[in-house]
Amino acid sequence: MSGIYFHIPFCKKACIYCDFHFSTKLSNSDLVVQAMLNEVELKQNFLPQKRLHSIYFGGGTPSLLTKKQLALLLNAVHKYFSLSENAEITFEVNPENITNENLKLWQHHGINRLSIGVQSFNDNELTWMNRGHNSVKAINSVKAAQDVGYNAISIDLIFGSKFSSVKQWEESLKKAIDLNVDHISAYNLTIEKRTRLGKSFELKREPEIDSQLCENQFLTAHTLLEKAGFEHYEISNYAKQQKIAVHNSNYWLQKPYLGIGPSAHSFTNNTRSWNIANNNIYIDALLKKQAVNYFESEHLSIKEQYNEYVLLGLRSKFGCSLNYIETHFGSHYIKHFESNIKSLAAYYTTVNNTVYLTLDGWLLADKISSMLFI
Ligand code: SF4
Repeated sequence: MSGIYFHIPFCKKACIYCDFHFSTKLSNSDLVVQAMLNEVELKQNFLPQKRLHSIYFGGGTPSLLTKKQLALLLNAVHKYFSLSENAEITFEVNPENITNENLKLWQHHGINRLSIGVQSFNDNELTWMNRGHNSVKAINSVKAAQDVGYNAISIDLIFGSKFSSVKQWEESLKKAIDLNVDHISAYNLTIEKRTRLGKSFELKREPEIDSQLCENQFLTAHTLLEKAGFEHYEISNYAKQQKIAVHNSNYWLQKPYLGIGPSAHSFTNNTRSWNIANNNIYIDALLKKQAVNYFESEHLSIKEQYNEYVLLGLRSKFGCSLNYIETHFGSHYIKHFESNIKSLAAYYTTVNNTVYLTLDGWLLADKISSMLFI
């Protein structure tokens, strides 16, 4: 299983909580796309196989790509790679960019899954977040996508802000369930230093995030969404009818992927690389062929591979296989894992020699993983 990730590093405006790489200067978007095409060509042999199981357009805001830019990127994929039957092609979109014309255009290019950045159904909260849509637009955009024939739709929601009590969060979840989408990502709001929210927080203009509220909202999401037929398959992700996100699941399963674009990460043969998070330097390196290093990489040691396996496995329904730890990492690692997990009996189960965190375990996933790290 291999996939390609395209990072589209542009947004119309900055959401207050967002720590991803993007620029609001759209005037050089053609240059960035041209540079990305060069990067695809340069890295055409990066993956162990040419056959792709997924393509993911993330960002930033992929729904700002013009018709021509999107066609160029997909043509490059078809030139250097082949797609497996039923390959998942996901496009992250903002509700305000959803029009019938765009929906049909994306469909025409083979995009078969939309990930819609709804974030909230509360207009005051959406304004506070500095999003470009309101709740009516969010709901209508999902319905418009369904009317055009998209049957794989994910929506993102954020919980934990000062705007949502448990009751309000329940109402948001019910709205999401009523929309009949097959995938929901529910993220806990986090305060990142470099963001506007981070700065307001530092200046004490925003209250601390209430961790008890977050915990209650996490549990509410689990209960309501499972009752509505969703499987809670990763800490922040829920899918109906096994429609788990193929591309993202491959990250959690440590499968190879190639990341194209400023700030994009790649992974293969236990080597991780990451592109520079700067559009101009990226353009200079790939288009103007200036001698600038536009990416860095590191080979993961056995210890780092083990730690990553534990971290990712425990966060998802894939769990941590004891056989895999023993055969892949060796006796020292399995002994360490087994002896350290013993004290955590209340937080995990073992089925078929694979360790899975319980819901209570997921509430403490980071802490538990760090206790099992070497
Ligand atoms: S959350 Fe999405 S739309 Fe908002 S600034 Fe970040 S990347 Fe852009």
